[in-house]
This record gives sequence, C-alpha cells and structure tokens, in this order.
Amino acid sequence: MTITHHPGDETLAAFAAGTLDEPRSVVVAAHVALCPHCRTTVAAFEQFGGTLVERTVPVASRAGALDEALARLDKAAPLAPAIRQAEPDCPAVLAPYEVGQWRWIGPGVHWRRVEVPESEGTRVFMLKSAPGSSLPHHGHSGVEWTCVLQGAFRHDLGRYGPGDFDEADNTVDDTPFVEEGDVCICLVAMQGTLQLRGWLGRLLQPFVRL
Ligand SMILES: [Zn+2]
Repeated sequence: MTITHHPGDETLAAFAAGTLDEPRSVVVAAHVALCPHCRTTVAAFEQFGGTLVERTVPVASRAGALDEALARLDKAAPLAPAIRQAEPDCPAVLAPYEVGQWRWIGPGVHWRRVEVPESEGTRVFMLKSAPGSSLPHHGHSGVEWTCVLQGAFRHDLGRYGPGDFDEADNTVDDTPFVEEGDVCICLVAMQGTLQLRGWLGRLLQPFVRL
C-alpha cells in the first residue's frame, strides 16, 4: 500500500490530544491504522503532550490526568488490526459502532450510515462506488474528511488510493470519479449537507439524505 495523502500535522496533533470530535477522530483513526508514517507522528505528539502534562499539571491532579491518558490509550488499542476479518470492507475502528445496510443513492453508488454520535453537524458514513463511476458534481457546507479503504478515486487535487486521506473543506468543489479496477470504498466524516449539482445531482438530491 502506497499512501501519498496524509492528514495535516494540526489534525494529527488534535487527534493525539483527543480534542477532535468523535466523527472526525474515527476517520483519522482509520487512516492512522493503515499508515505507519502517521502512527509515528501521533506517537510523537502523544509523547510531547505527556511531557507537557507532566510539566504543567499540579501534583494534586496528576492521578486524574494519568487516568485520562490511560483511558485514551485503551481507546486507541483496537486500532492495531487494520481490517476486521469477518467484514473485509469494514475497518476495525468501526467495531464499536452499528453500521447500517448499503443503500443505493445513484448509478453505481451505495451508501451506509455508521452510527458514530453526530457532533457539530458532522456525521460518518461509508460510500461504495463501482469502478468507472463518478459521483455527481457536488459541494458541501462544511468539512469532508475521507479515508479510502479500497479502490481509488481521482479529483482535481489528485489520485486517492487505499489508505489515502482527503481533508477537504467547503472551498473544494468536487467532481470525483472512481478508477477502473476495484470497487472503491471510503469512510467519510461530513459536516453539513451535501449539495448535488448539475442535472443528475438535481435528479438525485431528493433521494440523498446524507
Ligand atoms: Zn498518514
């Protein structure tokens, strides 16, 4: 697996500090589980954060800080196996969550909900797109973070294959299309609503309740 697109350092630092909201944390965790480079970076941020805690937290409250740090480590532990064996298209980071049935949302494109508690209008879902398919031209009203689990798509900013992380904000106007070959499966945290454009988008919009 050659991973070329990673979360930014700011994102990895927030992930390591436990300050990212849960929907975005889950998608970053899916990437970190697949990416040795980012695992090293997160470990470094955690160590740095731990040192800061040791230096700045008064002695009286250190027990609590340590408990919190240990709880975070416990939470991070299930990241080790990248893919759950029983469900090859479902990453291990989703093991604690209910995952819905695949539903058709457009030609060659299926969607399923992941029951991560919504935070500030950000929800988690998986997208499965047939080789050669394209998503309708779309924009979104907030951030859209994607980790590719299988297959590959391309849009204006490059090619995104297995393990790649796409950190798009609302300034990006996507027209992604899926490469020939493998079915493309992605884990997505999206804030706000998806706005489909063009004639196909307008046709599909009533059916898409993401
Ligand atoms: Zn990475």
